[in-house]
Amino acid sequence: MIYFDYNATTKILPEAKEAWIKAVDEYIGNPSSPHRLGSRAETALNNAREELAAMLGCHPLDIVWTSGATEAANTLFHHFYLKLTDNCNVWISPIEHPSVLEPARFYFKSRIRFIPVDKEGVVSVKWIRTNLGVEKPGLVVVMAANNETGVIQPFKEIATLCREYNVPFFCDAAQWIGKLPVKELAICDFLSASAHKFGGPRGVGFLKCGHNITPLILGGPQEEGRRAGTENVAGVISMIAALKVCEQLLARMLKPVNSDDSTKSFVNQPEEKIAIRNEFEKGLLDAIPGLLIAGRNAQRLWNTTHLIMPQTACNVRWVVKLDKLGFAVSTGSACSSGKEKPSHVLKAMNYGDEQASRAIRCSSGFSTTKDEWMALKNAIVKVYTEVAATS
Ligand code: PLP
Repeated sequence: MIYFDYNATTKILPEAKEAWIKAVDEYIGNPSSPHRLGSRAETALNNAREELAAMLGCHPLDIVWTSGATEAANTLFHHFYLKLTDNCNVWISPIEHPSVLEPARFYFKSRIRFIPVDKEGVVSVKWIRTNLGVEKPGLVVVMAANNETGVIQPFKEIATLCREYNVPFFCDAAQWIGKLPVKELAICDFLSASAHKFGGPRGVGFLKCGHNITPLILGGPQEEGRRAGTENVAGVISMIAALKVCEQLLARMLKPVNSDDSTKSFVNQPEEKIAIRNEFEKGLLDAIPGLLIAGRNAQRLWNTTHLIMPQTACNVRWVVKLDKLGFAVSTGSACSSGKEKPSHVLKAMNYGDEQASRAIRCSSGFSTTKDEWMALKNAIVKVYTEVAATS
């Protein structure tokens, strides 16, 4: 089976697996225990915190270990719900992952203002700039890169604007981290991520936040009272090992940025990977009339392509047929007859429900080869030809 669903989850990297196994054997104590085995585990956890802080350009105590990006986002909204006054709005992009949208809706209800998104799936900086001059929100929330389309958001410009107006900015970086350099995220006040999106284990992630975040999970005094529960020491160590591998790979693949580019909203990406993905898309566009690619004209993550197939079959059928041919791809959302709702991301980009029901997402990893991309292209064309002949 050839895996093209890296945005959903990734296989654990060998280095991360090795680090996890070693840590499980080495750090047997509870980091809160007073004996030497406990303090050894605590030291390991704090070393990992220092390593991540150095990568993110923040203070080690700005980092709270969580079970993943979902818990990080829930913690953040809970904190701001308690902190902000009742008349304070929260501005959020409508293309956020449900792990961000749902806690935002739960805590802030009618106090949410949605930031417009253009047809390429890019959040409007202009809207933020204009409205910051009129109203002061309690929090602005825009993700780094979208999980469905891969469209990269102008989070640096937004974070800069928020700083200017002294408004806190939260960025869900679950799809950015491990695919592009973490140091680019340093400007964000609050950040969330999940290890399993970048070759680490499942069930571990982090929230970058201030020292005074209110805990969502109550109990023991772990994480300086910001998140109760015995820490996942091996998970954290393995996550940092995975991140280091991704950062090293990126350092080798990324070309040095010239000073002209660094001043614009240009995102430096691995050119070789982008070229392969573009060749895949061109091959499909040439072979399949009516095929659309969501966010095609925007800057997108090098690994993601979101195809809106022509009117031949719904995406579940596509996924099943591709699965039979040996490819694991994902639906952006299911057919309208299925139990999932059409994608809110495509809806925000002005696609209709019926179009959204024909969307399939292909997302690769560092190890995905050009041959694998081309084999997927051939399989999609084959399925298209079969489906078109019978419909
Ligand atoms: N944010 C984004 C952009 C995601 O893609 C995901 C997972 O798909 C999450 C948050 C939630 O991550 P987790 O389920 O690991 O908490």
